[in-house]
Amino acid sequence: MEKTQCPKTPPKTKCATDLNQKQLFTPMRLVIFGPPGAGKGTYSKLISERYNIPHIATGDMIREEIHKGTELGTSMKKFVEGGGLVPDEIVIEILRRRISAPDCKNGFILDGFPRTTAQAKALEKIADVDLVINLTVPEDVIIRRLSSRRVCRNCGAIYNLISMPPSRPGVCDKCGGELYQREDDKPEVIRRRLKEYETQTKPLVEYYGKKSIIRDVALVKEEKVEEVIKRVYDIIESVKLK
Ligand SMILES: [Zn+2]
Repeated sequence: MEKTQCPKTPPKTKCATDLNQKQLFTPMRLVIFGPPGAGKGTYSKLISERYNIPHIATGDMIREEIHKGTELGTSMKKFVEGGGLVPDEIVIEILRRRISAPDCKNGFILDGFPRTTAQAKALEKIADVDLVINLTVPEDVIIRRLSSRRVCRNCGAIYNLISMPPSRPGVCDKCGGELYQREDDKPEVIRRRLKEYETQTKPLVEYYGKKSIIRDVALVKEEKVEEVIKRVYDIIESVKLK
């Protein structure tokens, strides 16, 4: 007797492959916003695994297309090498192809796009957005977190003086190299990046606010990822039950 197996791309049948995984019966198309240092990548990955929806990071996709040397990749290379931004039409085209792939049938989580209201409008032409998760973190928490990051000059290993300190101060555990603070991780630079992020995101928060599909997840203090993610899951599931 053959056992019933989970099809690779499940049609309408429920197929729990993981006890932790929740099957959504309608697609969940998510967008995630979060300032540098909020842990957007970490949360996106957890959401992606739990709901079996791909984590689509546009920055990674652009780098991948360029690396593969596709037609689109080649046209993007010019912009990236010239220090400019890739035009919206090209990013939208890559995104359109990506979200029409079979693994997006349950939805997706979009990270790094849209960054402007124009991009949000362009996105609407190719996909619906069900929910925008807006991670907010107090400035002092981010500054403390990012400014405690140290990098090995020799092997590139990353440490955090608070959460992952090296066993000997200033020395890499892996290779004995010297640890230093990157320019980007200095408080004054972080403050500037956060200002830029806020200016850029504000119109988008208002835009999605008018559509009533944005929900804030406020990290009020140094909270553990496990605590925050539970609140995120609650929001996603409450939206789906409506
Ligand atoms: Zn090292």
